[in-house]
Amino acid sequence: MADCLVVLVPGAEQPSRSELAAVGFGRQVAEQLGGHCDVLLLGPQASACGQAVAAYGIGKALVADHPDLAQPTGEALAAAIAHVASAADYRLIAASATTIARDCFPRAAARLKAPMASDVVEIGQCSADVLRFTKPCFSGNLLEELELHGSTALATCRASAFEPPAASDASADVQTIQLPEKLAHPRKRFVEAKRTPLERPELTEADVVVSGGRGTKGDFTPLEELADVLGAAIGASRAVVDAGWLPNDFQVGQTGKVVAPKLYIACGISGAIQHLAGMRNSKVIVAINKDPNAPIFEVADYGLVADLFDAVPKLTAAFRAARQEQGAAS
Ligand SMILES: Cc1cc2nc3c(=O)[nH]c(=O)nc-3n(C[C@H](O)[C@H](O)[C@H](O)COP(=O)(O)OP(=O)(O)OC[C@H]3O[C@@H](n4cnc5c(N)ncnc54)[C@H](O)[C@@H]3O)c2cc1C
Repeated sequence: MADCLVVLVPGAEQPSRSELAAVGFGRQVAEQLGGHCDVLLLGPQASACGQAVAAYGIGKALVADHPDLAQPTGEALAAAIAHVASAADYRLIAASATTIARDCFPRAAARLKAPMASDVVEIGQCSADVLRFTKPCFSGNLLEELELHGSTALATCRASAFEPPAASDASADVQTIQLPEKLAHPRKRFVEAKRTPLERPELTEADVVVSGGRGTKGDFTPLEELADVLGAAIGASRAVVDAGWLPNDFQVGQTGKVVAPKLYIACGISGAIQHLAGMRNSKVIVAINKDPNAPIFEVADYGLVADLFDAVPKLTAAFRAARQEQGAAS
């Protein structure tokens, strides 16, 4: 029997979809190993979020706050994870592949001298001796299979590839644990976090994403109107971010965010492989592009060869009318 530990650094009292997807991932591996999936929650929201996560079929929730986790650095989180992991016997330590996990997980793996897989999209056969995972490489053009040997391993998973478990009435134990007195690196200091205020759903959590490329010429007004009718998040290609039209929080792709919404509408985006790496797993892809030979059409389920400034307002009007009809009928 071997257990898994899923690490969350919650930003709110309720777990996000991607945090719960990591719990789903950890539970699947733990089931194969015949063990439990515990959850370690770190930071100021740990305690409140721990109570919420306890309903998702986990072994127990371990919660810890610490002055060095108020604005955590990768080093402080890695020290906390390594401290908890070395005091227990977890076969796998897992998290969703967020920016935070990308920063702290390799550091924790180095501290624990343990192997690590990042961006896992599929679980293979796992046993106490070896964990098998599949992850994309070369911008998602190839999938590689990895084996992690040893007594402990770490992995981050792509939230879009795993389903959050269902909540139940039964609640697991929530235990407060102590962390070492010093977690932060003595020569690194948190200075400032600049967060882009969000008017729409978070890109990686949204069911619908309306994304724009260089073809927008920096005018996102039609896309924002469409996004508002659909309750969608706005995304962008790197060309848009490089031009300074939107901050890089909006970038989808190899060097941006990876999304897999139910519907991805790409407007004026050519479909370079680095962009596809961030959205090709979307359930339905719609492409609007003036150029019939644009590579985006190769991955699109629905393609419209049109000027986006003509097509997008028409789509918005059609969705708005359909919404109004629905509202009148109900
Ligand atoms: C190491 C590396 C990492 C990268 N990471 C990323 C990444 O994470 N994300 C990313 O997106 N890119 C990334 N890129 C850049 C990528 O290679 C492309 O350059 C970029 O995706 C192009 O953005 P685009 O499609 O908006 O622009 P373009 O390729 O210039 O395409 C614009 C498209 O708009 C269409 N168009 C123009 N006007 C209209 C109109 N009025 N109506 C409809 N269609 C119109 C054109 O036909 C064209 O197809 C990366 C590149 C490198 C080298």
